[in-house]
Amino acid sequence: MPSPIAHCSLILSFWKALKEAARQDRGDAFQRGGKMRTMGLITAGIAALMGPDLDLLIGIATGEGFAAYHNTFTHSLFMVPLFAVVYAGVFHVLFRGGFAQFLRIGAAGFACHVMLDSVTFGRGVQLFWPMLDERFSSPVHVFRGVRHSVNAPLFEHFKTVSSELLFVAVYGAMVFLKRRSGLH
Ligand SMILES: [Zn+2]
Repeated sequence: MPSPIAHCSLILSFWKALKEAARQDRGDAFQRGGKMRTMGLITAGIAALMGPDLDLLIGIATGEGFAAYHNTFTHSLFMVPLFAVVYAGVFHVLFRGGFAQFLRIGAAGFACHVMLDSVTFGRGVQLFWPMLDERFSSPVHVFRGVRHSVNAPLFEHFKTVSSELLFVAVYGAMVFLKRRSGLH
């Protein structure tokens, strides 16, 4: 998996949709334009983009180590609808509205996370669980992947962070140019 750096950078593409979802707030749960609303939107974005990695908690809870179930069933494309419904339910309650919008954000965020993980050098992800138990990894790797072993050489971590910062720079520039061209 890439680190949260690459995953969370996608919030740039989700920000407009998140603001639209919050606009459906029927009770004005967070003061409009206030810091709490911005924090709420960032939290909703990160939750959508990092949701599949909740599998880290399973290994911690069972005492088998946090990587024991990592990139397994929560990284299946078949889990997208289930995750999206749960995600939309939670943020619909928090923002008092916007279920349909949060449903789309949850589905898109979850799918993006799984796709980024699948183009990462590493063990691969269980993309088609429960149909297939095999882990899948793209033959083309965009990211080096996080080395969970504490004994991983420092240079390995450097390669991981470098590949992700390069991704963020290119992706950020593309978003910036797209927005700029949209203004004219
Ligand atoms: Zn992941």
